[in-house]
Amino acid sequence: MVDRNLTSGTGGNISFYDQSNDVVWITPTGYDFYSIELVDLVGIDLTGKIIAGELKPTSEWHMHVEVYKYRQDVKAVIHGHTVYATALSLLREPLTATHYMVALAGKNVPIAEYATFGTLELAVNAVKAMGMKNAVLLANHGVNAVGSSLEHAFAVLEQVEYCSRLQLIARSAGQPIVIEDAEMNRIIEKFKSYGQ
Ligand SMILES: [Zn+2]
Repeated sequence: MVDRNLTSGTGGNISFYDQSNDVVWITPTGYDFYSIELVDLVGIDLTGKIIAGELKPTSEWHMHVEVYKYRQDVKAVIHGHTVYATALSLLREPLTATHYMVALAGKNVPIAEYATFGTLELAVNAVKAMGMKNAVLLANHGVNAVGSSLEHAFAVLEQVEYCSRLQLIARSAGQPIVIEDAEMNRIIEKFKSYGQ
């Protein structure tokens, strides 16, 4: 995330849900990403109780756990403070279907209502706004991406940031054309069988 400009400093956090053991492996709070080793990950249950590890989990653990409670298809959540997606959230401007790669996240990426960072309220707002999509912008804060694996969630985050950047650049020069709904449905279907 740091190498690809998807977060800065200790901002952002990552989790993976091991469904068979009912444990969420999550990054520790206020920890340099480059220094994190496997033993530094914190294991929590869906109530936030620490069941493994020595460190404290990220203060945004609610935001991860709430997703796993409501989305059986999701195994990984990445939260980042990316520049362009966050800029859209300051404008309260959802990411629309301006480039077809947004389809990795859904037809568009909505914005969750503002709430203070680290609160259950923010986590609930994020889950509500995201629905069955794979990403959500957090008002004046950042972006969440989810997926069936860490690699999937990371790809969603990267594409949401890329598309947000395009939308802002295009809009600053004119009025971007949004891809029609029917075509977005086709693209989303195509993505289901994409890759090896
Ligand atoms: Zn954050």
